[in-house]
Amino acid sequence: MENPGFKDLHLSKEMHMAIADMGFEEPTTIQNRSIPYMLEGKDVIGQAQTGTGKTAAFGIATLERIDLKNKGLQAVTLCPTRELAIQVSEELKNLSKYKKGIKILPIYGGQPIGRQIKALKEGVQIIIGTPGRVMDHLDRRTLKMDGVKIIILDEADEMLDMGFRDDIEIIVRKIPEQRQTILFSATMPKAILNLTKKYQSNPQLIKLVHKEMTVPNVEQFYFEVKQQAKTEVLSRLIDLYNLKLSLVFCNTKRRVDELVEKLKTRGYLTDGLHGDMQQKQRDRVMSEFRRMEIEILVATDVAARGIDVGDTDAVFNYDIPTDDEYYVHRIGRTARAGKAGHAFTFVTGKEAYRIRQIQRFTKTKIIAQKVPSISDVEEIRTNLLLEKVKETVDAGYLGKCRNLVEKLIQEDYTSLEVAAALLKIVIDEGGKEEAMQIKK
Ligand code: AMP
Repeated sequence: MENPGFKDLHLSKEMHMAIADMGFEEPTTIQNRSIPYMLEGKDVIGQAQTGTGKTAAFGIATLERIDLKNKGLQAVTLCPTRELAIQVSEELKNLSKYKKGIKILPIYGGQPIGRQIKALKEGVQIIIGTPGRVMDHLDRRTLKMDGVKIIILDEADEMLDMGFRDDIEIIVRKIPEQRQTILFSATMPKAILNLTKKYQSNPQLIKLVHKEMTVPNVEQFYFEVKQQAKTEVLSRLIDLYNLKLSLVFCNTKRRVDELVEKLKTRGYLTDGLHGDMQQKQRDRVMSEFRRMEIEILVATDVAARGIDVGDTDAVFNYDIPTDDEYYVHRIGRTARAGKAGHAFTFVTGKEAYRIRQIQRFTKTKIIAQKVPSISDVEEIRTNLLLEKVKETVDAGYLGKCRNLVEKLIQEDYTSLEVAAALLKIVIDEGGKEEAMQIKK
């Protein structure tokens, strides 16, 4: 996997700085393959789904092509839903952090139109809108398309499914013909191909083709979790399965650092590995992991490449990988040398889609699992505690403690009562500690 880095894409200094702040280590496959064409101003058809880094792909290229001195509207992105419009506009804002004076505005139905009109009057270079609301502004003449040089149709197949075909065509026709037309779509049905024939000129088709890969024989599970609940679910699974060595993958350096901090607060022995670290630091972390002084190693794909992590009990995809091939590389880090291993993948919202895609690519089954409840974890813990009690009795040497119990029995308590009370104290203490950690 010798992927070209961001530096090979010849981006501006401001863009490199923003990308570094976002914690991206290297371009995703769709970014590597589509950005060069988009930077040249060519029309592009990108066949890519949510989760592959498609937004940053067209976002980076578009931002690099905006003339910062020109305050007029230069790029229009159409998205199927308000949520996506907001998400895309946030990603573009992050990517434009060091491009001073750039104005990006999401415009979608449901928000008071007056506020959008005011913002548009102040000058906006990029809008990200839903087709219906963009049409509304065109009818009111509050949006002028004469200076637009880039139009992006994001999730084009979804927009067609939602009945936006006529709106899209009217909007595209309002934009000068010398424009660059970019279309991203997860699927390429005939209706999409018709659109591209009608409105794109000599488009470059970027489709992800996969290498043949050997998929390791690992038990694979996935969990649908909210973003904020991921750390809690990770902790529960580690406790429930009593995992001694886990490798947890995040998509960015920032996510690695954040997760390591959260896990440390919860009392786990953990550390991170990512591309910003010095070799010496990495070697230290790796040898601590091998000596089992670290029980959870959190890493990015780039950092984990080429390292031997030995006997990992489980691999977690804390973030679903942006590339199917990464998934195979990641899960191959467990179950080495014929040992049983587990791969757990967390998906949020729309990402369930990616699970189906990965299953198709790997021709394996990833089984949906319910997030274990606190009581599941408690039950397992209680069983472990009882096992420990039995082991301690069998091992003998209870001398001093036996004398203490005898003292209580003379005070008229039964040995059953004493044993039950002691267990209650131990279990309640464990519960209290847990509650404190969740609150933190
Ligand atoms: P998207 O496919 O646009 O929905 O992006 C999915 C997620 O991947 C978003 O959270 C992006 O911020 C993130 N992402 C985009 N490009 C990269 C990259 N090069 N490295 C890591 N994460 C990325």
